[in-house]
Amino acid sequence: MQYKRILLKLSGEALMGDRNYGIDPNRLQEYAQEIRQLTDREVEVAIVIGGGNIFRGIAGASRGMDRVQGDHMGMLATIINGLALQSALEDEGIDTRLQSAIKINEVAEPFIRRRAVRHLEKGRVVIFGGGTGNPYFTTDSAAVLRAIEIGADVILKGTRVDGIYSSDPEKDTNATKFDDITFNDVLQKGLKVMDTTAFTLSQENELPIIVFDMNTRGNLLKVVSGERIGTKVNL
Ligand code: UDP
Repeated sequence: MQYKRILLKLSGEALMGDRNYGIDPNRLQEYAQEIRQLTDREVEVAIVIGGGNIFRGIAGASRGMDRVQGDHMGMLATIINGLALQSALEDEGIDTRLQSAIKINEVAEPFIRRRAVRHLEKGRVVIFGGGTGNPYFTTDSAAVLRAIEIGADVILKGTRVDGIYSSDPEKDTNATKFDDITFNDVLQKGLKVMDTTAFTLSQENELPIIVFDMNTRGNLLKVVSGERIGTKVNL
């Protein structure tokens, strides 16, 4: 395996499968099976999960809701997803812990960096819920932050597309895919990988990001074993 400790970022929308709201249990089971292929090979896996399949603060704000109130709802949505993912992973026989950035002690452990690292060392998958615990941030920022804190080798951003393209491949037939790209090129070309806050945090801390198609079976294992699929963003 090329990477020993990874931070996998899954968007909330990815959990919807073909639905337009909520969680598709089949998709969840598929993801758990993909993750199992890593834990079977003693890769240390931490996961940050989004909440966009349930609620986004910005969507609430666009309809007149207070932004902070909406972001609190979004953070709770990530915990709902985290619980669902934890349950799916346990069904696959994987030991897991859910750590939350906001206090919700009856439901999840609080985020404690040293404890998270210890869980990973013991082979448990650690799911980080609640984003960063602050409004006006995204779970991409949480993913980068946690990855740095736990000393992950790489951030794996599992998406529906198989990498970063010169333009939107769903709209432009001339779009070309990058196998490798630098942080500076992503910024200069105005490409969308993560929001700017998350992206620059990753750049400043020299933490590579690999964007890949999480919905093709076997891809997660391929990426972690060093096979060149998706797009790698590096210094
Ligand atoms: N959120 C937040 N602070 C964070 C992370 C998330 O307030 O640190 C809220 C925010 O409202 C966001 C929602 O949680 O819209 C869901 O997260 P995100 O949109 O990043 O989920 P994804 O797009 O990955 O499904």
